[in-house]
Amino acid sequence: MGIFDFGTQDHEQVVFCNDPATGLKAIIAIHDTTLGPALGGCRFWNYKSEEDAIFDVMRLSRGMTYKAAVAGLDLGGGKSVIIGDPAKLKSEDFFRAFGRFINNLNGRYITAEDVNIKVEDMNIVAKETSYVTGISSRPGGSGDPSPITALGVFAGIKACVKHKLGKNSVDGLTIAVQGVGSVGHHLCQYLSKEGAKLIVADINNEAVKAISLECNAQVVSVDEIVSENADVFSPCALGGILNDASIAKIKAPIIAGAANNQLLDEDRHDQMLVEKGILYAPDYVINAGGLINVAHELKGYNADAAKKEALGIYDTMLKIFNEAEKKKIPTHKASNSIAEARLKEAGKGQSRRLDKNFDNQAWITV
Ligand code: NAD
Repeated sequence: MGIFDFGTQDHEQVVFCNDPATGLKAIIAIHDTTLGPALGGCRFWNYKSEEDAIFDVMRLSRGMTYKAAVAGLDLGGGKSVIIGDPAKLKSEDFFRAFGRFINNLNGRYITAEDVNIKVEDMNIVAKETSYVTGISSRPGGSGDPSPITALGVFAGIKACVKHKLGKNSVDGLTIAVQGVGSVGHHLCQYLSKEGAKLIVADINNEAVKAISLECNAQVVSVDEIVSENADVFSPCALGGILNDASIAKIKAPIIAGAANNQLLDEDRHDQMLVEKGILYAPDYVINAGGLINVAHELKGYNADAAKKEALGIYDTMLKIFNEAEKKKIPTHKASNSIAEARLKEAGKGQSRRLDKNFDNQAWITV
């Protein structure tokens, strides 16, 4: 396979970063900068092969373009992956080398945390470049995005409940949450505070025990959570969770959760959910709170303003449901078409990067 045949073939730029001194091997994929500089987290993963890493970074960076476009952010889509074992490779020099590669892109790509990358890692990256978000070391850094992601998911669930069940609140409804890690835990707190009954499952026994005590949640096994009798099934753990086997078991009329890439096969499984009469909240729309949060960091972080914008996911979600009904298409397709329309209007081929004058969030058209 030729190098330009990887992924979706519509990426602007893919950068391979190699630093033998520290063992850093990373790939930065810039999918589209029509709306602004490409922002997306860095994933540290022990990929089985370099091909797997390329496919992952291409797919994830493309997803970021759509996420930013539907969230109404003036940002493009990008992502980076670091290849290897985080437990063996992480060091100050390692992340400083990564920071220098990002800096060389002059603001076309801005990084943040993703799987296996922590705020303290990004604080090191920030010693070499200002094109980094989700840090705590710089005044105005926004830190961990999980609480705001959870707030956005909560708003998205409320929009689903309004649209599908005609209710203004989750009070008295049963919500089954799969995965009570960083996002799932905060989400349970929001739901419980508004009176929802919770059913939870996680492979981490300590995590479920904590939520069970704090929110009076019923704990079930990880095999049972999908088929619980609930009003909402909220996947907050794994990608690919909506597949032939799970869709056959789901009883909830609504699926709305934080996990990325929930549909194993975007086209087929999106359609299967429609046929089962299940309302699906497109993952990259409902989980955009974290991206909204780091986008605020670029213009001078204000937690209240970021929260307010994350709550806007409620309206975005209703807009998507209306579009899906009007065009008689699945919800995931409807959100894709909203993103594509925005990109088209902004003028494909127009490329932007973040100015050195970071505080003014000045995009330069290049
Ligand atoms: P996390 O690692 O803190 O939590 C995930 C939880 O899922 C863990 O507690 C883990 O034990 C549990 N889990 C793993 N396998 C499971 C299984 N088979 N069944 C049940 N539980 C299982 O991650 P997170 O930051 O809470 O993110 C959750 C999801 O949301 C991920 O898919 C992530 O990509 C997505 N997401 C997160 C953010 C964010 O701000 N953190 C933003 C957007 C999307």
